[in-house]
Amino acid sequence: MMARRRLPAWFTQKIPRPEAMRGMEALLRAKNLHTVCESALCPNMGQCFMQGTATFMILGDTCTRVCTFCAVKKGVPLRPDEKEAQHVCEATRTLGLTYAVITSVTRDDLPDGGAFQFALTIASLHNQMPETRVEVLIPDFLGDIGALGVVVQEKPQVINHNVETVPRLYATVRPQAVYRRSLDLLLAVKDLDPGSVTKSGLMVGLGETKEEVVEVMRDLRGARCDLLTIGQYLQPSERHHPVRCFVTPEEFAEYGRIGMDMGFAAVASGPLVRSSYRAADLYKDAGRS
Ligand code: SF4
Repeated sequence: MMARRRLPAWFTQKIPRPEAMRGMEALLRAKNLHTVCESALCPNMGQCFMQGTATFMILGDTCTRVCTFCAVKKGVPLRPDEKEAQHVCEATRTLGLTYAVITSVTRDDLPDGGAFQFALTIASLHNQMPETRVEVLIPDFLGDIGALGVVVQEKPQVINHNVETVPRLYATVRPQAVYRRSLDLLLAVKDLDPGSVTKSGLMVGLGETKEEVVEVMRDLRGARCDLLTIGQYLQPSERHHPVRCFVTPEEFAEYGRIGMDMGFAAVASGPLVRSSYRAADLYKDAGRS
């Protein structure tokens, strides 16, 4: 249960229709699929499920890392499901998705970090549903550019890798990640495929300063990152990293302006923005179709 600091007034959301939720959940369970929406307790889940969209989380529901902001289950994961890519295709077809977002837990236990499963899922979607755009939100593959290349060569429309927060907070927020490694991974995508579209995202309200956020945005532009998301961190439970502050809608709007002035093709910045939230719109905002 989410530890509740009293949320500011701007956190208003429609109550999801139970039947819409049940319908999506039944489909996901029938296909033995996980979503980051459910695993990470995403505040937009109700709205997205009602709209018949979700972010599929492949490689199981158990992560090998222990980020302190994240509600995803941690521990020893199961073997990857060989039918998973096909099940993602079937669920995408059933939902009639024209834009599919695929993410995963981090699998530092696998030699390729799960890159093959990403490539198989992208290729299956491209082959079976050529009209559907595919965005992948990838882990850092421990900086393994060979593994990254396996994903990039399948040409997903967008390759997303979140930096999540500012470098000063990595030790307490995402201790197994390395800020420079994440930037280098985004840059490597562009080196491997100059025509690719890259994206990254960060949460605010974890204790960072505005100057640090702007510095991260500058670093991402330095890594030729095209799309950016900035959203408010919400504490999943008492056991997770506390919320240090609630950034106002006006401050989010300013981050958006700063990002566009820096040359991002599109920026989504707002309290309820998440890296996959309304991903298709951001892709369109960048003038892509
Ligand atoms: S790597 Fe961190 S943020 Fe990603 S699923 Fe694992 S614990 Fe969560």
